[in-house]
Parts: sequence; structure tokens; C-alpha cells
Amino acid sequence: MVKKTAVLGHPVSHSLSPRLHGYWLKQYAIKGSYEAKDVLPEALGDVLTSLSADGYRGVNLTVPHKETALSWINKIDDTAARIGAVNTVVVCQDGTLSATNTDAYGFIENLRAQVGELSPFFKKTVILGAGGAARAACVALMDAGAEEIILINRSRDKAEKIKTDLGGNIQTGDWEKRDSLLFGAGLLVNATSLGMKKMPPLELSLENLPQAALVTDIVYNPLTTPLLRQAQVRGNKVVDGIGMLLYQAQKAFELWHGILPEVDDALRCHMLEGL
Ligand code: NAP
Repeated sequence: MVKKTAVLGHPVSHSLSPRLHGYWLKQYAIKGSYEAKDVLPEALGDVLTSLSADGYRGVNLTVPHKETALSWINKIDDTAARIGAVNTVVVCQDGTLSATNTDAYGFIENLRAQVGELSPFFKKTVILGAGGAARAACVALMDAGAEEIILINRSRDKAEKIKTDLGGNIQTGDWEKRDSLLFGAGLLVNATSLGMKKMPPLELSLENLPQAALVTDIVYNPLTTPLLRQAQVRGNKVVDGIGMLLYQAQKAFELWHGILPEVDDALRCHMLEGL
């Protein structure tokens, strides 16, 4: 029987996930499929509750379904509960739906794969943004041992909400003061959509950022964002965002197929050709 999987979103035609999962299905000779399904918000409940009857092993969820899907999921894990959103659904043998959020895993595994031991960067972390991706990055960093996290967002109330929800070592900062808040940081994360193709660049002076700090951008199109270029020029180590996409998918693939697929340079090249 074909192991059916898909990504549900709206719009979804731009998604790179079919290219990614298709590569692994072929590499591991799994008789499976992965399609992009455009699902309107009002149709999501019907699609999710029919997954088992329609023969699906699982699905990924992307914008705008990551939070709303929670209403139709029978069981979510602790990571998804803390992030408040799911991106990977597994159809269980009895037809019920369990779900998790693999973005936190994707975020931290990408950093580990590129840099190795992260603790030298963990004294002070600055995260720009307070959307779903920033939430996932926060959870991942807290679990990995980040000591102090400063969350800076244009709409500060959203950063405050994350602080309240996650507790721990999170502080919030003023968007207008973001340049000065970089002082003493060991890790800088752009988790806004600024710098993405067709979006304005992130306006940020790195003058106060220590040269030993690691800079990462979760935007991956373009691969080298203006922020990463700026950081590279002044000698900071940088990690681009494509790896987060690859590693979040790696975890989903394992949940559906029982194989942890390899993330290597050949896969990275294959995905960059699809950008
Ligand atoms: P989201 O929930 O819509 O959040 C967008 C964030 O960007 C918010 O913090 C928003 O601030 C900020 N922002 C947008 N326009 C801004 C502007 N003009 N000035 C200042 N801040 C602005 O989106 P998301 O799901 O978190 O995703 C954020 C980015 O990460 C997207 O580009 C997405 O493609 C990327 N992403 C990458 C991966 C990966 O695998 N690498 C995974 C997930 C997401 P406000 O709250 O003030 O609006």
C-alpha cells in the first residue's frame, strides 16, 4: 500500500516540502507519496478528520493551519503544547490523530549541525520576532540550555505573551532599541520575515554585537539574507535557514516512515535548486 503523506496549507503551491520528502522517499525506496494540498481554512476540519479514511499516514501543516488544526487533533506532545502550534500530524492505527511541532527540533539541529557545541553562545540570546517561528526557536533554545533570552518584536505584546506562556529565562525588549540590546549577545536569531524575498530587509546595526557571536536567520530565500551578509562581512559566524527546513522535515519523515533520513550536502543542493 502506498504510504500517503502531504502538506496542507493555503496557499501551498510554493512549498518545498514535496521536493524534500520526494527526494527521501526515492532515496530510501519507500513506496510513498507526498503532495501539496491547498486547503481553505473552512475545509481544514473535514480534511483532517478524513485523513484516516483517505489512507493518509500523516501530514504537515503550514500557514495558516498550524494553530487552528489543534481543534481536530486528539493528542499533542509537550513541545507542540508549549509552542501552541503543530506542523506534523501522524494518523494512528486506530484512526486518531497525534501531532507535534518539529520546527523546534529543526531550528536547533540546524545550529548543531553547522556549529557543533552551542553552549559557548548561550550566555545571552537575542531573538527578533514573536511569530510561530520565534516561539519554536524559543522553546528549542530553552530546552538546549540558553541562559538568557531577549525577545524583541515590533508588536511587543506578542513577545510579552510568549514570555508569559513559556516563562523561564525570557525577557522582552523594545523594537526601537534593538541595536543597543545586542550588546554582549552570544547568539542573534532573526525570526521575523524581514529579509525574505519581496519583504523589506531587516534594519539592524550590528555595531554592538560581539564578533564572537553566532548569527542565524530562519529566512532561507534568499539563502544569504542581508543580515547574514552584514554579519559575515564583520567576521561573525553565520548559519542560514535552509537547514531548519531540512531538519524539521527529517523528524516528520521519521515519525511517518520509521527512518531518520540523512541531511547532507547533496540534499541541500537539491533543495537550493528548487528555490
Ligand atoms: P509570523 O507568525 O507571521 O511572524 C512574522 C514575524 O515577523 C512577526 O514577529 C512580525 O512582527 C515580524 N514582522 C513582519 N513584518 C515586519 C516588519 N515590517 N517590521 C518588523 N517586524 C515584522 O511568521 P512565522 O511563521 O513566525 O515565520 C517568520 C519567518 O520565518 C517567515 O519568513 C517564514 O518563512 C520563516 N520560517 C522559516 C522556517 C525554516 O524552516 N527555516 C520555518 C518557519 C518559518 P509583528 O508581530 O509585529 O507583526
